[in-house]
This record gives sequence, C-alpha cells and structure tokens, in this order.
Amino acid sequence: MWSRLIWFQLRVPRFAFITWLAVRDRLSTGHRTAQWGQAQYCLYCGEPDETRDHLFFACPYTFTLWLKVTGNLFGMDPDPDWDTTITRLLTGHYDRLTFILLRLVLQVTVYYIWRERNERLHNHVSKPVEHIARLVDKTVRNRITSTRYYLRPRLQGLMQRWFGAHDT
Ligand SMILES: [Zn+2]
Repeated sequence: MWSRLIWFQLRVPRFAFITWLAVRDRLSTGHRTAQWGQAQYCLYCGEPDETRDHLFFACPYTFTLWLKVTGNLFGMDPDPDWDTTITRLLTGHYDRLTFILLRLVLQVTVYYIWRERNERLHNHVSKPVEHIARLVDKTVRNRITSTRYYLRPRLQGLMQRWFGAHDT
C-alpha cells in the first residue's frame, strides 16, 4: 500500500504532501498542463514531454541526483523507472532504519526536484545537481537530528546508517 511511503514517523508535512501528489500523478507537470494549450518541456534536460515519470527519475539530471542521494540504501542500483522504484520501496526487504531513510530521502528528493523545477520555470535560475544533492543530504541529516526523534534509542543508528550509505 503506497500510503506507507507517505505517512511515517519522520515525515515532514510539506515533503509528504508533494510526494503524495507525485504518487497520485497530480503535480501540474507540463504533460498535464499541456491540455490547456501551454507549451511544455523538461526544464532540466529539454525532453519535450515533462511527465511525472520523466521527472522521477527518468530525466538524466534527476536520476543523477537520485543515484547520489540514495547511495547503497536500496542494496542494488536504483532504477530510473517510477513504478519500479515504488514497487521496490513497498516490497523490498529492508531493515527498519534503512526503510525509514528510503522513505525520507524519497520525500525530500521529490520535494526539491519539484521546487527546483518551479524555480527554473518562474525565475530562470538553475542550480547544479551537486547543489541539490547537498540540500537533500542536509535536510535528511537535520531531520534525523531533530531532537524529538534522535533521542529515541531505536532510532539512534539512523545517522550512522545514512553516512554508511554514502561512504563509497
Ligand atoms: Zn529531463
């Protein structure tokens, strides 16, 4: 059930909401707004059809970001296909901490990809992929260390697991 990817202990409401829209394919992507006659293309790579599946994570830019931020959390190479990603998240066998981090990094990454996409659309400024990767990393670490959660014994290995995932 995909709602397990949205509602979990460490979620941040604004990240969870954007991810919920992405899962339901309700983000106003170019593909969806094209029905009102608006020209559209991917603001990251120029691909002529900006669909949800292209943005997450078939686009070369966003897939590069996804590779960087997931590290070894999946236990295998991430796949650029959205449905495969969601299926792997829901059916893979992950330890408790890894599953928390996978859901957190999914939500944070989807949020920043959508935000950067909107900044490119409205303000015509582009951040390099390394910049977004650092933002995602910083946001995940801030979430882990937010005191309410960090002090819980069962979650104390989270930061170690996060660093361990990005060692190589
Ligand atoms: Zn693209």
